Amino acid sequence: MPETGARSAAEKGAPCGGGRISVLLPLAIDHVFDYRVPDGLALQPGDFVAVPLGKREYAACVWDGAASGAEIAAPRLKELRRKLPARPMNAKLRRLIEWVARYNCALRGAVLKMAMSVPDALEPERPATGYALAENAAPPPKFKMTPARRRVLHAVAEGPPRAASELAREAGVSPGVVKSLADAGLIHAVPVMQVVAAPQIGDGGPKLSPEQRTCADDLVAKLGGFSVTLLDGVPGSGKTEVYLTAVAAAIQGGKQALVLVPEIALTAQWLGRFEQRFGAAPALWHSDLTPAQRRDTWRAVSEGRARVVVGARSALFLPFPELGLLVVDEEHDASFKQEEGVIYQARDMAVVRGQIENIPVVLVSATPSLETFANVEQGRYTLLHLPDRFAGAAMPEVRLIDMRADKPARQSWLSPTLRRALGETLEAKEQALLFLNRRGFAPLTLCRNCGHRMQCPNCTAWLVEHRREGRLRCHHCGFAQREPESCPSCAAVDSFAACGPGVERLAEETKALFPNARVGIMTSDTLRGPNAAAEFISAIEAREFDLVIGTQVAAKGHHFPYLTLVGVVDGDLGLAGGDLRAAERTFQLLSQVAGRAGRAERRGRVFIQTFMPDHKVMKALASGGRERFYEAEAAERRAHKMPPFGRLAAIIVTGGSEDGVIACAKALAKTAPAEAGLAVLGPAPAPLRRLAGQYRWRLLVKADKEVNIQAEIRSWLPRVKPKGGVKVRVDIDPYSFL
Ligand code: ADP
Ligand code: ZN
Repeated sequence: MPETGARSAAEKGAPCGGGRISVLLPLAIDHVFDYRVPDGLALQPGDFVAVPLGKREYAACVWDGAASGAEIAAPRLKELRRKLPARPMNAKLRRLIEWVARYNCALRGAVLKMAMSVPDALEPERPATGYALAENAAPPPKFKMTPARRRVLHAVAEGPPRAASELAREAGVSPGVVKSLADAGLIHAVPVMQVVAAPQIGDGGPKLSPEQRTCADDLVAKLGGFSVTLLDGVPGSGKTEVYLTAVAAAIQGGKQALVLVPEIALTAQWLGRFEQRFGAAPALWHSDLTPAQRRDTWRAVSEGRARVVVGARSALFLPFPELGLLVVDEEHDASFKQEEGVIYQARDMAVVRGQIENIPVVLVSATPSLETFANVEQGRYTLLHLPDRFAGAAMPEVRLIDMRADKPARQSWLSPTLRRALGETLEAKEQALLFLNRRGFAPLTLCRNCGHRMQCPNCTAWLVEHRREGRLRCHHCGFAQREPESCPSCAAVDSFAACGPGVERLAEETKALFPNARVGIMTSDTLRGPNAAAEFISAIEAREFDLVIGTQVAAKGHHFPYLTLVGVVDGDLGLAGGDLRAAERTFQLLSQVAGRAGRAERRGRVFIQTFMPDHKVMKALASGGRERFYEAEAAERRAHKMPPFGRLAAIIVTGGSEDGVIACAKALAKTAPAEAGLAVLGPAPAPLRRLAGQYRWRLLVKADKEVNIQAEIRSWLPRVKPKGGVKVRVDIDPYSFL
């Protein structure tokens, strides 16, 4: 990585003088650019400015340090255009950007881009207007009421005044249709108030049990300084109530709080609880926000009006002026690792932000990551433990079903034992969840005549049949096609066989077994957008389904009082392959799924179908032997100096020509650092050798804990200049080995 322009922050806060300043642009560039400052304009580091670059104008951020030097003589410097009216980015967030870029061997501009994700919010605030129905208005003569126009009118009638772009989006029409209705006088523009309701502390939530109280008091006492605390407790032990108490104390002290959660779309229940406790909804930050919502939220955060933000990992880069508490809920969840663009682990970077902001960070989980446990053991994080479910609700009983003995019928995926249990649960008018982490109908489609397998044309992957949709889909690149009439290889007709189960196929089987059961499928395919998820979850709570068949989206922290049976259809699914964290992740995921059963008075039962009942993960799940499992897993990783007891980084080389990729990967191997305590393995073709048309090869850097792996990589990679569109990416502490 080029390290141009990295310099000390000695002059932080000092006005940038000399008529020339450095700015960082939110682009895939590491170095800063110099601009001439127009006469009479005073600028500070952190100010947002508009600058010309090439033929375009960009919003950029004035960066710390002196201007970058004499490469460009002053008279030839371009002049920056203007200062933008947004609040400047504070020094802490700038430090975080520097830190994240360094640690992850990423480009500083690319990291800045995550903190400037809403360029609109930097521009002057326009008084917001929205459209409302005009009362008693009659359409002018010759006005045609088309279906598109009717949809817009419905949308306008259905909610508060909204911008034309938003109405158009909702009605699925072009903004011109909205304008035509305004021109016809049927709708008119009205001012819209942007209000962010302030949370009220109120009565302080439920009365905490003594154990909960101890934990909550501890967190509250930590406000005002940096610390990292692991809040560990079984599902239902009240972890959320405990950290919400700390959130309340933080906002009472005039600070803001950020709660990072995985799968924001699925936290409807969490939001309900928050609103009940605080009398107002928190600000939300996730990828499903409309552009207007993003802009308003970004501004509300930067102006301190949003007191509590709940968001996906990207919320970590929001411009909080007075952050007082950072919570990472389900801290073990792999979705905190961002795999595209800048590759980073949001949980770890949250700890960095906590340190820079000098505030407490709370990591919350029932099945913490091994990394976090190791940090507790080394005394860097402190541990708070909630041992029991609240109000004595019993943990579900977990039983293994040995699939070698308890065999399902042909073309069926449920063992006799699980079928019986399902029958009993449905009979008792209770709910059941069948967990299978596979979307679609079948993971593989094969020609019975010639054995041809339907493969993605762009990836090293089979196409997954989605029967309801009538399509074969690639789960890696999004490619989709209809199932062909005949085999593309041997031209046989009607020769395709679906191999293996997905959730749709399981739904078919259960419908045949229990024709009266109301079956719902819960996957990211069936829950598009946050509202769909909230509706589905309410429907389960309202007992509109007897049986839910779901992927991991069903495993998240929902609380379903009537759910008493969980059946894991294929417990071994996550254990295949050589992934470093396969065992840990399977344990975490299946524990979480099991935690869905019996969260109220009714005791829950959990059945896990497995071909490996003697596997350490299965034994730990069945015996509640969590501590022993973690110890064994840690011992194994320690012996092999694997994370968290050693360092790993993946170097991923990609390109359209495999020869080019191999040449670059080999050149990297040849120039690899020869340091003691560091080894470079590979190159080898990635398991996903082709992804979206790009060939992929990997090298793995393995180093002792004491080695500064980032520094080694930074001095190594520039020795090879990739040619012909080949790209080299660094993944520090990789989670994906595909
Ligand atoms: P966790 O986050 O550990 O899964 P929660 O905080 O969600 O646990 O608590 C589980 C359930 O128990 C929730 O419905 C919660 O409202 C309830 N609960 C927890 N602690 C208390 C308490 N002290 N008083 C009343 N209800 C509580
Ligand atoms: Zn594909």
